Amino acid sequence: MSDGLVRENAPNHEVAADGVRLTTSAIVGLGANLGTRERNIEDALKELDDGAQISIVTKSTLRETVPVGGPQQGLYLNCVVEVRTSLTAPELLSACQRIEAALGRVRLEKDGPRTIDLDILLFGDLQCSDVDLKIPHPRMLERAFVLEPLAEIAPRRVHPVTGKSIAEHWSMLRAGAT
Ligand code: ADP
Ligand code: MG
Repeated sequence: MSDGLVRENAPNHEVAADGVRLTTSAIVGLGANLGTRERNIEDALKELDDGAQISIVTKSTLRETVPVGGPQQGLYLNCVVEVRTSLTAPELLSACQRIEAALGRVRLEKDGPRTIDLDILLFGDLQCSDVDLKIPHPRMLERAFVLEPLAEIAPRRVHPVTGKSIAEHWSMLRAGAT
């Protein structure tokens, strides 16, 4: 690559000659600010790594963060993970929503407190703007609680819309925030 960036994003749903679907590298962001936050995240990660279609490759450190938007609520714990999956993006969203439900998430208000939240941030280089599934996650570039842990595990990964690396985005956000 002439610009020095590593295109480590896997292609979407690429199928090998023998018909086996190759896996996609996706990034999932997790957050919790109700109950035993660390336990909720650990439980969600155990569920996510299902030993079949989703495998966690890398996990960022956990960070405590101030809530963005919504009502007054407690501090969050956040992390991001890179997974490899043979699922499609909608299937991965369903898996994430099943885990949220299994861990007792109740949606009372927008941006309200939550036992556990799993968002798909990136899915290979996929761009998707369905009503119930937007990828890349539309607010990921404005959120320090996403970019900081993501810069820790995948700094050279390229955002498929902007063409800039995660490290560049994190540094731009930090520059704007100070
Ligand atoms: P938040 O936007 O705070 O994460 P929710 O977790 O309640 O809110 O999700 C609201 C809706 O966002 C879900 O019903 C889901 O269909 C939709 N959604 C759209 N894009 C995504 C994505 N990339 N990852 C997860 N949910 C998404
Ligand atoms: Mg969510």
